[in-house]
Amino acid sequence: MSTSKLYQIIPSEVCFSCDVCCRFLEADSPLAPIFTETEKQHIISQGADPILFQPQADGKSSQIKLKLHKDFYICPFFEPETSRCSIYANRPFDCQLYPFALMFNEDRNSVVLGVDMLCPFGEAHLETEAFQQHLQHVISYVESETVMEQIAANWSLIGEYQDTVKVFHTLNQKLTHATPTINPRR
Ligand code: SF4
Ligand code: SF4
Repeated sequence: MSTSKLYQIIPSEVCFSCDVCCRFLEADSPLAPIFTETEKQHIISQGADPILFQPQADGKSSQIKLKLHKDFYICPFFEPETSRCSIYANRPFDCQLYPFALMFNEDRNSVVLGVDMLCPFGEAHLETEAFQQHLQHVISYVESETVMEQIAANWSLIGEYQDTVKVFHTLNQKLTHATPTINPRR
C-alpha cells in the first residue's frame, strides 16, 4: 500500500493523552487493525511473530491478534506505558487512516469514507476549515489509482458499517464493484 502521501492531521501529543486508539473491549474485536500482505511481510521482516497475524477472507490481508491487558485488549504493537505504537513508522494503512473509516454503508451496496466520532479530536474539529480540507486530502488519497487497487485486492480492509462513523463520501463505484456486498472482514 502506498501510504507515503497520507498525512495525519491530529497532533501526536493529542493522541498520546487519549485512550481510544489501539485498545479494544473484546479479544476478537472486528476493529483490530488489518495489515495488507505487503505490510505484514514488512513487519515480520522487522522481527514480528507471524502467528500474530490472522488471515482474512480476501486471501491477502491479515488481522492482528489482540492481547489481554488489564481488563481490556490491546494491539500487540501498542506500548501502554507510553501510549506509543512500537511500529509507528510502519503502521498499516488501516491505522494511518484513523479516525477516518473505510466501510460498507448501512445497505452494503457502497463503500464509504467517514469520520469516527469516537475520536474526540475528529468530533471536536470536524467542522473546522483545516479538517474539511483534510477530508478532501483523504478522499483524493484513497481514490488514487494505486490505493484503490490495493484496497480492492485487500478488501477485508473494508469494515462493517458503524453508526459512530459520520459518512462524508461514497467511494468510486469501481471499488464497490470489486468487493463483496456482504462484508467478510472476520
Ligand atoms: S481517538 Fe483520535 S485523538 Fe484519540 S488516539 Fe485515536 S486518533 Fe488520536
Ligand atoms: S499498529 Fe500501532 S497504531 Fe495500529 S493499532 Fe497497533 S499500536 Fe495502534
